[in-house]
Amino acid sequence: MSEADCLFCKISSGDIPADIVLENEDVVAFRDINPQAPTHVLVIPRRHIPTINDMQDADDAIVGKLFLAARDVARQEGFSEPGYRVAMNCNGAAGQTVFHIHLHLLGGRDFGWPPG
Ligand code: 5GP
Ligand code: ZN
Repeated sequence: MSEADCLFCKISSGDIPADIVLENEDVVAFRDINPQAPTHVLVIPRRHIPTINDMQDADDAIVGKLFLAARDVARQEGFSEPGYRVAMNCNGAAGQTVFHIHLHLLGGRDFGWPPG
C-alpha cells in the first residue's frame, strides 16, 4: 500500500473523518471503528511508516512519542491506575491489517495474558 492510498495517512490529514482524542505535530490518536474494549484508541505517527520492520534507528523519537501519547490518552480516559493494554501488530502473523504503524490502546476492562 502506497502512502497516497493509506487510510491512516488520510485520517492524519483530515481527508477521512475519525473521532480524534489527541493530536499534535507528530502523532494522532483516534477511536478504533471496531472497539475491542470500552476504550480502544489507535495512536499513529503522522508520518507514514508501514510496519515495525520499517522503523529506522532515527525514528526513535517518533516511536517514543507514540507511547507518550498513549500514556496521555490513558490519563484522559481515566484508566491509568487500574491499567491498560498497549499493543502493536507487525505483519500477517500478528494480524496487522492497516500498514501504517499504530499502537492499540485498550482500557476499561481486565485483559488476559497471553493474548490470542
Ligand atoms: P491492525 O489489525 O492493523 O493491528 O489494526 C487495524 C485497526 O484499525 C483495527 O482495529 C480496525 O478496527 C481499525 N480500523 C480499520 N479501519 C478503520 C477506520 O476507517 N477508522 C477507524 N477509526 N479505525 C479503523
Ligand atoms: Zn500511512
